[in-house]
Amino acid sequence: MSFCSKVKEELINFSDVPPCCSLAEMYGLLLFGKKFSKSEIYINTENKAVAEKYKTVAQRLSLSDVKLINYSSGKYKVIAESAEGRLKILNAFGYSGSERSRRINWANINNDCCFSAFLRAVFLACGTISDPEKSYHLEFSVPYSLKNDLKRILEEVELEAKEIKRNNSYILYFKGSEDIVTFLTLVGANDCVLEYLGVKVFKDIRNNVNRKTNFENANFDRTLGASLRQTEAIETLKKNGAFQKLSPELKALAQIRLENPELSLGQIGQMLDPPLSRSGVNHRLQKIIELSK
Ligand SMILES: [Zn+2]
Repeated sequence: MSFCSKVKEELINFSDVPPCCSLAEMYGLLLFGKKFSKSEIYINTENKAVAEKYKTVAQRLSLSDVKLINYSSGKYKVIAESAEGRLKILNAFGYSGSERSRRINWANINNDCCFSAFLRAVFLACGTISDPEKSYHLEFSVPYSLKNDLKRILEEVELEAKEIKRNNSYILYFKGSEDIVTFLTLVGANDCVLEYLGVKVFKDIRNNVNRKTNFENANFDRTLGASLRQTEAIETLKKNGAFQKLSPELKALAQIRLENPELSLGQIGQMLDPPLSRSGVNHRLQKIIELSK
């Protein structure tokens, strides 16, 4: 099951909704379906539970039969076919049917408590969320006339959505994991919030470990490259007899380097008698490399 389906399943099973919120919830589901007008009221969805919920609500309000079509592609369409039934649905939310564009009727979202119920249903009707393993992304696909109204409601709960146009729809979306967690918490997807946070913590740790490992590997490569150049120089000096002419200090250092190619300059310095600083060791090794040329 996709993460999005999990969220929708949890939201559909959300219980203990007070009557005022229950109206706001039904309203959000129907208003943010594909069409909501005198001539057409329907929803397209890939989620069976959403289709069934839409059917139940539309039937209850229209007092008429509502058709649920299950396509072979796995998608669903739920459609209020009765003209009389559609008018009853519109009337239930304070519309006459003569409105020229779809706008939010704020009277249906009366109390603060109703905002979260309304947003829960809006997400069911037109929202999707990416699997947090892949990316942090939550979006709503809405008609132009509802875009600014929905943005305003999200602002009421301190969420600032970005927008883009895609095909004939407008997309309001969040990219930040914090905004997404805020939204999921608000609409009551508590189990999914825990899962989301768990994935996020895991990803953050993994990113930190990767960053650290990359850094250490780069350091190690540098140390090893330098060590190879130094041991090659010492071996050249040995082959052409110049090694024996080195000062005792340089000879001692060269010998330690040859026997310990993995040590850092600081570690080599510690092994010398008397000990030598990292830069002192570096200076002498540079001299050996010069001599070998
Ligand atoms: Zn309420």
